[in-house]
Amino acid sequence: DAPVEHARRNPNIIITGTPGTGKTTHCEALAARIAAAADGTGPESDAALAELRHIAVNDVVRDGNCHDGWDAAYQSWLVDEDKLLDALEPDMTSARGGCIVDWHACDLFPASWVDLVVVLTADTEPLYDRLALRNYPEAKMQENIDAEIMQVLLAEAHDAYEPEIVVELASNTPDDMEANVDRIAAWVTQWRKDRGV
Ligand code: ADP
Ligand code: MN
Repeated sequence: DAPVEHARRNPNIIITGTPGTGKTTHCEALAARIAAAADGTGPESDAALAELRHIAVNDVVRDGNCHDGWDAAYQSWLVDEDKLLDALEPDMTSARGGCIVDWHACDLFPASWVDLVVVLTADTEPLYDRLALRNYPEAKMQENIDAEIMQVLLAEAHDAYEPEIVVELASNTPDDMEANVDRIAAWVTQWRKDRGV
């Protein structure tokens, strides 16, 4: 049967962006707040976060064998998107929902699985510095910088999803990161409130 839209009680959120824009950093900050909300040590205002979960898609690709091998020259998995979607489907279509999905692409996810797409962006200078620390091969470095300048992820999100569920958040400084995480948490609280969860 086709899933009923919004049958889940927590929103699924894709955190996307060019490598180095801060997806994992944001998701880990959210995960810390989720853990505190779940064990009751967080602020009362974070209670709505208790059922969320961080899904590090890179780990799913690796541990679930959702790939056709490792591209050594490019230093990344050759991702099998069909296998990846199969691996993610139980969590993302569950009644619990609440998946915070950390991935450098977004348009592979069916629109019915997705409640919010956060596209993180960074200026060229901080992005270059962050990628340089990773010792990326020059071609991969340049490709990522170009993709960010061309706003490839933002276009991908807008092509695949309704405009009202796509938000672009700048991720240049730690203050940006903190404000973004607060904003995502507030959005989750409002989403549940709107649906009487
Ligand atoms: P991604 O998961 O998108 O590839 P990461 O979260 O791993 O990016 O971040 C890459 C690097 O950039 C990390 O060293 C992280 O600490 C730093 N970083 C990410 N976002 C910010 C930010 N908003 N301000 C300062 N440093 C950041
Ligand atoms: Mn990451």
